[in-house]
Amino acid sequence: MSVKYIIVTGGVLSGLGKGIAAAAIGHLLSSRLKIIPVKCDGYLNVDPGTMNPFEHGEVFVLDDGAEVDMDFGHYERFLGITCKSKWNLTMGKVFQTVRDKERRGDYLGKTVQYIPHVTDVIKSHVFEIAEEETPDLVIIEIGGTVGDIENELFLEAVRQMKEDVGRENIIYIHLTYVPVPYGVNEQKSKPTQQSVNLLKQRGIFPDIIIGRCSQFLTREIKAKISSFCDVSQDAVITGLDVDDIYEIPVVFERENLPEIIHKKLNIYSPPDLRKWKELIENTRNPKNEITVSMCGKYTRLEDSYASIVESFNHCSAHLGCKINLKWIETTDLQDTSFIDNTDGIVVPGGFGSRGTEGKIEIIRLARERNIPFLGLCLGLQLAVIEFARNICGLSGANSTEIEPDTPYPVIDILPEQRNISEKGATMRLGAYPAVLKKGTLVHSLYGTEEVSERHRHRYEVNPDYHSVIADKGMVFSGTSLDGRLVEFIELPGLKFFAATQAHPELKSRMEKPAPMFFGFIRACLQK
Ligand code: GLN
Repeated sequence: MSVKYIIVTGGVLSGLGKGIAAAAIGHLLSSRLKIIPVKCDGYLNVDPGTMNPFEHGEVFVLDDGAEVDMDFGHYERFLGITCKSKWNLTMGKVFQTVRDKERRGDYLGKTVQYIPHVTDVIKSHVFEIAEEETPDLVIIEIGGTVGDIENELFLEAVRQMKEDVGRENIIYIHLTYVPVPYGVNEQKSKPTQQSVNLLKQRGIFPDIIIGRCSQFLTREIKAKISSFCDVSQDAVITGLDVDDIYEIPVVFERENLPEIIHKKLNIYSPPDLRKWKELIENTRNPKNEITVSMCGKYTRLEDSYASIVESFNHCSAHLGCKINLKWIETTDLQDTSFIDNTDGIVVPGGFGSRGTEGKIEIIRLARERNIPFLGLCLGLQLAVIEFARNICGLSGANSTEIEPDTPYPVIDILPEQRNISEKGATMRLGAYPAVLKKGTLVHSLYGTEEVSERHRHRYEVNPDYHSVIADKGMVFSGTSLDGRLVEFIELPGLKFFAATQAHPELKSRMEKPAPMFFGFIRACLQK
């Protein structure tokens, strides 16, 4: 069978959930097909690793160490696969390749042009992935909105692909917006018509239109969109506003999307949503409710902690509990009374010094009052600092990232990291194995001796202080295979006080919540 392609584009506005739509389509078709997601991003950064989370949301990290768009989080969570760096194609990467080829003389004196040279690089990249991975289906999501200058070359490339792969092997799905304006109370098709027109001007004629809407699309609006946009009526699908993104595959199934795709692409892979629906039902009918405080500095933009939020959603679905996340901004933290009304505390990852003293104070309170505490990356480092200061008597202990002249650099850059100079390359990135100590909480949560989690950080617990800290009772429950790097810590005797240098949230799945989160929430539930 030839490889099939689904191209997902978006119109009208950004933020309609193209990534989730693409991931949900993948989920529905994944029972019998090997699916590879590819995301094209129009920006000129080579990857989002250097972008501020305020601008681009969370930086997602893959096993292979790539820093990629946060949509890869959705792909992995909905498809249960491990994605690769190559599947995120940015315009920055494309231009880098074109310029390298030009400098090498690959173009043999030709004038290097957007078409065909840039579009050829885009297409070759996609075809290489198809050759390497031998999938049944590639789902390509084009970031941004049709009409954005920065996406034109991607759109042109996927338009040309029809001829390369054969028209019977590719379909185009366009996600638009169907507003129901206040007072008018009627579903409106004009934005969709205009957006599809923009797409058609680029030579792309959508096969399926998904209209994001607060209601199921009526038969009338489907007929109207069908006639104005020249797609069959059954191929106009509702992309319903939902509180729980995991409902999207269920909505698409109800709208018969898998059937339509099967017909158009001649592939067959019946969806099986039984387990998935059970989990959604659990989330919908919680048996109990807890409050978890997320103490960070990007709390104004919840997208920067997207994977953590999803990890909690996975716990909710399995434990049937509602988790109210309370966002605590720790910069200039004056009032810590929220602690009295919280069932658990999370200190997530972060960079720089802003807000760290507030977090250290919160960790002290969590430890002293025996409130379940989960530290992630920076959260581990700050828990070690708090312990060093208040239990080991190392007053002024700190991380050299926060206070370069600290008398006790309990968190420091290790020599092997220090020598790397290029920004973005100095970090420990990607999956690393750790060995867990038998008899510890962390070992009991994972149930295995060796685990692999993903990392994204520069600093480590300073080996010079390992014994001082361990002697006072902090347990290093997981270390790197050579024992030099501390990967997990815990304080025995408390309900739950554990942290990891890794980001276990990156590997949490709807069907398999991350053990650290699962254990933490279970502890929060035991009031
Ligand atoms: N800033 C810390 C470091 O670089 C922690 C990073 C993180 O939390 N992701 O080591």
